[in-house]
Amino acid sequence: MPNIGIVGAGVAGLHLGLFLRKHDIPVTIHTERVVAELADGPLPNAVVHHAPTLDRERRLDVGFWPVEEYGYSCHHYYVGGPQPMFFSGDLDRWSSAVDYRLYLPRLAEAFENRGGRVELGVLGAEDVDRLGARYDLVVVAAGRGAFASLFPRRDELSPYRAPQRRLCVGLYHGITPATPNGLAFNISPQHGELVEMPIYSRHGHVTGLLFENVPGGDLEVLSDLSYRDDPTAFHRTVLDRLARHYPRTFERVDPARFGLTDPRDLLQGTVTPAVRQDYARLSDGTFALAVGDAHAVLDPLLGQGANIASHSAWVAGEAIVEDVGFDELFCRRVAARRSDVVLGAAHWTNLMLAPPEEHLLGFIAAMAEHKAVADAFTNNVGHPDRQWRILATPDRTRAFLAHHDRLRAATAVTA
Ligand SMILES: Cc1cc2nc3c(=O)[nH]c(=O)nc-3n(C[C@H](O)[C@H](O)[C@H](O)COP(=O)(O)OP(=O)(O)OC[C@H]3O[C@@H](n4cnc5c(N)ncnc54)[C@H](O)[C@@H]3O)c2cc1C
Repeated sequence: MPNIGIVGAGVAGLHLGLFLRKHDIPVTIHTERVVAELADGPLPNAVVHHAPTLDRERRLDVGFWPVEEYGYSCHHYYVGGPQPMFFSGDLDRWSSAVDYRLYLPRLAEAFENRGGRVELGVLGAEDVDRLGARYDLVVVAAGRGAFASLFPRRDELSPYRAPQRRLCVGLYHGITPATPNGLAFNISPQHGELVEMPIYSRHGHVTGLLFENVPGGDLEVLSDLSYRDDPTAFHRTVLDRLARHYPRTFERVDPARFGLTDPRDLLQGTVTPAVRQDYARLSDGTFALAVGDAHAVLDPLLGQGANIASHSAWVAGEAIVEDVGFDELFCRRVAARRSDVVLGAAHWTNLMLAPPEEHLLGFIAAMAEHKAVADAFTNNVGHPDRQWRILATPDRTRAFLAHHDRLRAATAVTA
């Protein structure tokens, strides 16, 4: 029976830890602080889980927030500009968002209740190196930035050296959910995007607004405003920019009730996307495998980072259960098995952050015109490998749309 050490108790570390405990494999998570302390802390992110991740949660017996109560069934799209477009796409299988300050402590508790060990302490690179002596495999799931020197950046997969958006994400009262209840993805050309999501927090069902602001654009101010200095000015500016750039959300705001649910429920910052090496050899010959943000950091625009972290954790867990050794061959097999999904998400996100290419604009126009195309795009949010196979090149997008045209024609003839 292998003995596995994990560094980090985020979604990547906990999903892997729970997977291994389900198979009775001894596992210790090393992490810098008690996960329960997250509950009273500042908003760390605002994360949507898609159907494949929700499936994994159910299989790990941590499906504590069933989609029927906490989820949503569709996406509403709005594209601004001289001729605004709005349309929607349905999810065959629902998604949901639960505040990670509720989510992670509950999973950490389940991990410990099921025999998982937790050791507290801030580790440095030399500590991780020493863990090689204690474990058959060290899995580094310590998030973005930590241990970057152990897993060098892969330039060929990381086109950006700087953040492409400046973020302002907060949880709000006073916004009536869209009908049907869904995530609203809004684009303000040249200025940024707004992801409006139904999210469950300690305040109940509230609205997450993730403003993805293009540096230098009219929305960038939102990333610099201080809520604590002047809450009134903060709210006024958010409402002003909503009205100017995202009218479909603004029209559902009740100004009398509108406001952050708590001063802690705001995060402003940036993310520099990067894909790193999958694994490293520690000095005693033990291998360290990178999982989650330690391996691939994505801008949160398309809600992929935690979902691919969970996917990677699952792939690594299956490989640990199946394999007889935890050497370089093992690490290469994990890397190969997860690459379609992880790199699909990275490539697709990077494409959407760039000034839009012609084939992407054509695809968005097709979504606006044909519900089946919008439905396909919406469902593929949970399958970034499939999405990337459609959007990777103009030829692929053309072939996908031609296929949809043929299906439509065939349906019309039959009707
Ligand atoms: C605003 C925002 C919105 C987002 N929205 C989405 C979304 O909708 N969908 C989605 O899929 N993703 C989303 N993401 C991305 C998602 O939050 C991350 O990809 C995901 O949480 C990464 O999980 P992780 O387990 O790899 O790392 P983390 O959650 O960062 O966990 C790292 C763990 O390692 C520990 N640690 C770190 N350093 C050390 C050290 N030196 N020693 C010991 N322990 C250490 C930390 O305490 C923590 O327990 C969003 C991100 C942001 C910022």
